[in-house]
Amino acid sequence: MIKLGLIGAGGIGRMHTDIIMNQIPGAEIVAVSDISAENRAKITDQYPSVKSFDDPHELIKSSLTDAVIVTTWDRTHEEFVTASIRAGKHVFCEKPLADTKKACVNIMEAEIAAGKRYLTVGFMRRYDSGYVQVKEAIDSGRIGRPLLLHEQHRNAHPTGEKHTTDMSANGALVHEFDITRWLTGDEYETAQLICPRSTRNADEDLIDPQMVILRTKGGIHVDLEIYMNCIYGYDIHCEVVGEEGCASLPDPANAVIREKGARLYKIDPVWVNRFADAYVTEMRDWIKCVEKDSLTGPSAWDGYAAAAAAEACTRSRLAGGQVVKVEMMDKPEFYR
Ligand code: NAP
Repeated sequence: MIKLGLIGAGGIGRMHTDIIMNQIPGAEIVAVSDISAENRAKITDQYPSVKSFDDPHELIKSSLTDAVIVTTWDRTHEEFVTASIRAGKHVFCEKPLADTKKACVNIMEAEIAAGKRYLTVGFMRRYDSGYVQVKEAIDSGRIGRPLLLHEQHRNAHPTGEKHTTDMSANGALVHEFDITRWLTGDEYETAQLICPRSTRNADEDLIDPQMVILRTKGGIHVDLEIYMNCIYGYDIHCEVVGEEGCASLPDPANAVIREKGARLYKIDPVWVNRFADAYVTEMRDWIKCVEKDSLTGPSAWDGYAAAAAAEACTRSRLAGGQVVKVEMMDKPEFYR
């Protein structure tokens, strides 16, 4: 039984807790920490066996925990992830790995110094059966070499921390930055972020929607729409255009209802339902890896590469939407 400590008892922390406690026989949450006593109590009330820690670092050091899950706000990830690595504990960190490229480098340095992989990043779309089918279509060669990717990330409303303009690329689009690299096996060369007229439904600190255009080193064109206040639901699209065919992410299997002169198809309002199966598969996979003490999921390098794309997008936006280079360090031998 793998004993897990959770730091961050907000929306996704509680979702992972429910998955682990009810759907993963080989693991259990034994400890929780969060600056919000109210959020911590939501877990300990539901699962009285879970011990509550005021200080997340005490949870990391505790002999109660074999491994750690970090689901706090983005800018706190680096502190808890590096502390877990230094304590010699496997750590699962929600995306984005950190809020800056430099913080991701610090995490890679801690892991390299520790001498083995301890970190897995929560890029759960890699575990979604639809994305897996798209990847198989590319890898099998049946659609030929990918030439274009069109992707849309629409959210009814932002959840969690108050959403600002930078967070669209740093927080939300990192899913697309990662899945595109995973699908194509390619790294980014250039990025451009374009801001059209903003919706009146966004907070004052958020320009929404935004358009991103990326070019990979192999010459693939990628266009991404991020729209955090689309109102109508959580709606994710991805189409890969290849030399001999196309592969598209399937919509979730919801019934099509015909009534009152309309054909209706449910679009879930929240992200948690859209990728529900992927979150379970991701956690099962991570626990298996922890049991074997050998990690295969998204690495610190993957977290860094996504952060590099996000940082280039911010630079492009501040330069009035110019095309900028995605600046990345050479990949350390450790992550090859
Ligand atoms: P949330 O509901 O705001 O939960 C975050 C929790 O962390 C809150 O209880 C917050 O307390 C607590 N916290 C913040 N700073 C802390 C610190 N220094 N020490 C201890 N606790 C701290 O946010 P969320 O939606 O769950 O998101 C959490 C993380 O998961 C973010 O990094 C987000 O990007 C990621 N996420 C990933 C996905 C995905 O699809 N993979 C989906 C959603 C979120 P307060 O409430 O008191 O501030």
